[in-house]
Amino acid sequence: MGTEHRVTAESEVAEICRDLIRIDTSNYGDGSGPGERKAAEYVAEQLAEFGLEPQIFESAKGRASTVVRIEGEDRSRPGLLIHGHTDVVPANADDWTVHPFSGEITDGCVWGRGAVDMKDMDAMTLAVVRDRLRTGRKPPRDLVLAFLADEEAGGTYGARFLVDRHPELFEGVTEAIGEVGGFSFTVNDQARLYLVETAEKGMHWMRLTVEGRAGHGSMENDDNAITELCEAVARLGRHQFPLRITKTVRAFLDELSDALGVRLDPEDMDETLRVLGGIAKMIGTTLRNTAQPTMLGAGYKVNVIPGQATAHVDGRFLPGYEEEFLAELDSVLGPRVKRESLHYDKALETSFDGALVEAMQTALRAEDPIARAVPYCLSGGTDAKSFQDLGIRCFGFAPLQLPPDLDFAGMFHGVDERVPVDGLKFGVRVLDRFIDLA
Ligand SMILES: [Zn+2]
Repeated sequence: MGTEHRVTAESEVAEICRDLIRIDTSNYGDGSGPGERKAAEYVAEQLAEFGLEPQIFESAKGRASTVVRIEGEDRSRPGLLIHGHTDVVPANADDWTVHPFSGEITDGCVWGRGAVDMKDMDAMTLAVVRDRLRTGRKPPRDLVLAFLADEEAGGTYGARFLVDRHPELFEGVTEAIGEVGGFSFTVNDQARLYLVETAEKGMHWMRLTVEGRAGHGSMENDDNAITELCEAVARLGRHQFPLRITKTVRAFLDELSDALGVRLDPEDMDETLRVLGGIAKMIGTTLRNTAQPTMLGAGYKVNVIPGQATAHVDGRFLPGYEEEFLAELDSVLGPRVKRESLHYDKALETSFDGALVEAMQTALRAEDPIARAVPYCLSGGTDAKSFQDLGIRCFGFAPLQLPPDLDFAGMFHGVDERVPVDGLKFGVRVLDRFIDLA
């Protein structure tokens, strides 16, 4: 057999991604998902083939995650965690060009649910690690790999479970990479930005309640709970929270200004968002706190004024602006509205500096001369929120070079989710270099 047949990370990454997509790991949020256990076993087999001894942890029936530690050259150095989730959001096959769990490789892309969120990174990690084991290349420091269940429903049965119940797995780990970052945005011929996630918005899901005077629908009533609540909800829905430029967004703007050779004014974000095209949506929502009304409930009969009305609100706050968010929220809602928290998650923010960031820059530039890593804030949340509780500094870095015309943000949880095979190959080359530099 000639050397041209030698298996490499680049030659097998698309197939691994396809195999993972074919395992339907839909997460319905109620534990009924069919495939997390199968995915955990598949991952474990891929790693065991080269002598590793991965462990599978089941937090509840079928809710399985796989973890393995790979010894580094210098064991006195702190470890690096690479984490990815194996679950996906459900997909409705009727809406798709190809079946969402076919993993079809066509038109230069791997198609299917999870292709960018985030079986691409799972596959890249596996392909790179397998290649390093195959060719006997140790990482410079300990690597912990975690392939996790349940991220799409908050991580309770995946990352959160491991952090709370098995923190020893992450002993000595100080830094981590995972989703959602490392993908490219081509500005022009001279600059391609790779957005590294260094911050995440926090979350307050809440229920609003107004108590009023119940009564007959034929009577006058100046204390109707529905009327009161609707006024408050409408005020909130129309309210625009003030522009707040976090240090992450400021650093992003500085880098973008530099790449464009023009000074972007943080106060004039409309112009900046225009320049950003497809990723404007992602950046635009990290400039302010937001609170969107999402559910309403009141009443049970057309001629009865109920004593109570409720609404649900999805609130998201920027790192450093939680107190301001809650105070402003209450002032918009007014004194009649009782606000209860249903679900809370913290905001995250780390600085865009240090040796690990340098390693990202260097690895990217070695594969793409016009690459420039820039920090950005994610409007949602990831498993990083759990790992941060162990003092681990988390970055979203799953390197991927994308064609300029691909609506990458629209791929997440979208119809016809797909990832370019060349993007995956680029990703494994960068990831392999990054591990050597990290
Ligand atoms: Zn994800």
